[in-house]
This record gives sequence, structure tokens and C-alpha cells, in this order.
Amino acid sequence: MSSDENKNDKPNRRDFLKKAAAIGLGAAVGGTALRRPRRASAQIALPKAPMPRRPFGRSGIKVSTLSLGGMFDILNNRLMLAKALEWGIDYWDTAEGYGGGRSEEGIGRWFARNPDTRKQVFLVTKLSLRRGTDFTPRLEECLKRLHTDYIDLLFVHGISGINEMDPGLESWSQAMKKAGKLRLFGFSTHSNMEDCLEGAARLPWIDGIMFTYNYRLMHEPRMKAAVEACYRAGIGLTAMKTQGGGPVKSDSESEIEMAGRFMRKGFTDHQARLMAVWEDKRIASICSQMPNLTIMATNAAAAVDQTRLSQSDRAMLAQYARETCSDYCAGCSRLCSEVIGIKVPINDVMRCLMYAHSYQDLMLARSTFETLPAQTRALLDRLDFNEAERSCPRNLPIGRMMKEATNLLA
Ligand code: SF4
Repeated sequence: MSSDENKNDKPNRRDFLKKAAAIGLGAAVGGTALRRPRRASAQIALPKAPMPRRPFGRSGIKVSTLSLGGMFDILNNRLMLAKALEWGIDYWDTAEGYGGGRSEEGIGRWFARNPDTRKQVFLVTKLSLRRGTDFTPRLEECLKRLHTDYIDLLFVHGISGINEMDPGLESWSQAMKKAGKLRLFGFSTHSNMEDCLEGAARLPWIDGIMFTYNYRLMHEPRMKAAVEACYRAGIGLTAMKTQGGGPVKSDSESEIEMAGRFMRKGFTDHQARLMAVWEDKRIASICSQMPNLTIMATNAAAAVDQTRLSQSDRAMLAQYARETCSDYCAGCSRLCSEVIGIKVPINDVMRCLMYAHSYQDLMLARSTFETLPAQTRALLDRLDFNEAERSCPRNLPIGRMMKEATNLLA
């Protein structure tokens, strides 16, 4: 705290919310209640600077450093797509599973009405191996929904080990590229990210990866080395989950204090977390869920702003990461998911809780929870997770949280 700040005058959450609302940043500030989707403000204004672009690995393609995550009701919110293009956010991310196909349909409806914009957009979608390996017909369905005849980058959705990217996928992706249906191929991951990245760096047919990366994980030695290996291999890297939100309901004093201090410097802690990731030039883009124009404008403003975080800003983030370490699941599921005799995707359940608590999006939490195997969901509140808890480097109360997930999301 600087000398001109009253040490006894810690901002309380209510004052902080009032201030955030007063300057029109409410929905964009990374605190809990602040992230509820709201109606867009009429006073949204962006700095008049172009959206930065970075090379996407060895592809020769430059992408906007901010990308539009498609987990919102695009079908009924095409104004978001129009504004995204206007503000230079032309990397759009969706998946066959988002909204049961409605996300792809929404983008497809946009392209049907605005066919001249298709070439402007770097379009990403994803196919999940959990739904089966029949990728060819499902890719055709994606193309139909998206109203396009090619995908710029196709990800295998949410792998948790590099062995899932088997040689069959290499030959399939090459055939699809040859047929003009794909330009680039890769995977997304929020489990065992380091393992997946290290393995991918040895596979010359992986063009791009989207992975969980944020101010909490980016300084860990193994993550740093894995990112460097992929970057050197020419793999395009997209960061997601950059807010580092956790599955534990958090309303801590340190979160409020951090948000207040960044706000006094002219930006939000939400923006600061994005800026920390953008400072890593190996990251081509940040994929952000931006369910309304206020959040999109705030993120875009942070992307075009050339302000760099100061040493003390970074130290503040690092301190907050340390203080809230045990609120955050780092996705290292190889440590906890197989020690209880039956494989339980513990970190996927944690992610559902994160959507509920950190994103304040119960609908997303429930729909993601429903994608987990029914047998797993049925067992969550009955299994003994003591061994898993002993294996967790962050001491997360796994058993209690699995019960909470069952009560809240089942
Ligand atoms: S619960 Fe713990 S061990 Fe399991 S993925 Fe999360 S942080 Fe890693």
C-alpha cells in the first residue's frame, strides 16, 4: 500500500461495487458478483487504436490477441459478432457441444447474412473424443451449422493426455486439410496441460493448442518450459481461463483489496490478469468468454492499451495467487483422479464448480456437469476421496467439493 493510502481504510465490498458501478465497469471486474451478465452500457467507448495481432505459430496467419469465446447465446445476440468485428476481434472460438450446437448455429447465421465477412474471421471449432471418433460426419455437421466450407483451426476438445492425439488423428487431419475442410489442427486442454504441451512439441502435425494459462500458472517452471517447447516447435498458442478463477467460493479481503488498487490505477483486476498473459509474447491470443458488450469492450480496451503492468502490479498478482492458492484447481488430474480405484475426472468437476462460483454461471456449470459420464456423477457423493486429497498439492477438500457439486449441479 502506498504511503498516501489510508491503511485503515480497506475498501469493503459494498463500497467497491458502488465505485465499480459508478464508472461503468461492474460486469467486467473479475470479482464474483461482478461477473453476472448484464445489459450492455450505452456509454461503451474504446480507445482508438487497432487491435494488436500476433503470428499464430508457424502458420503464417496473424490473429487478434483477443478472441471471442463462443459459450454464450450467439443465436440471439448477433450484435456481439458485429461489434467484435468492428473492434478487430476476428478470432472466433466455438465448439460442436456449446449450447448443443446453438453457438455454431449462431455464427453460421451470421455468415449466412454476412458472407463477405467469412474470410475476415479466423474460425475455430472443436470436436470431442468423448462423443466418439466419428469425426468426418461430425465435421460435416459443424460446417453445415457454421454455414462455411472450411474451418481455420479444428481442436480436439479437452484432452487430458497427449496419447489421445493418436496417429489416426494425424492422418485424418491431413486428409481433411487436403480436402480443403481444415487449415490447421490441434487440441484444447485444461487437464494435465504441461504433459499435453510437452508431448505436442514432439508432434510436428500439431498446429495449435488452446490451454489453461494465467497469472497463477505462468510462472511455474514446468509450465514455462512446456510453453517454450511448443513455441519453439512453431505451435500457435491460445490461452484460456486467464482469470484464474477457482472452484471455491471466494470473496476474500485480498481479492477486494487487489481489485480496489488496480481500479485506482485506471484499470480493473480483470484487465490486469489479461495483461499479465499478453505480456508473454509467445501467447498468440487470449480466448475470453465475453457474454455481453460491457465485458467485450473492457477486454478490448485492455488489449489495445499499450500500458504494461508495473513490477508492483505483478507482485500484487503473485501475492494474491499465493494467498488464494488453495482456492484454485490447477488441472493436474493425473495426481488425484486415479488414486481412488476408479477414474473420476475430479478437475472437470472442479471446473463446473468454478463456472458456478467464479463465473457465477450456474447454467454453464450444470450443462458442463451433464457432459460427465452419468456413472461418475452418480458416484461423486459416495466415494472416499481421502487418498485423492492427500495427493493434491493444493490441499483442496476434494470430498467436500464433490458432494457440493452433486448438491448444486446434479
Ligand atoms: S484437485 Fe488438486 S490434484 Fe486434482 S487436479 Fe485439482 S489441484 Fe490437481
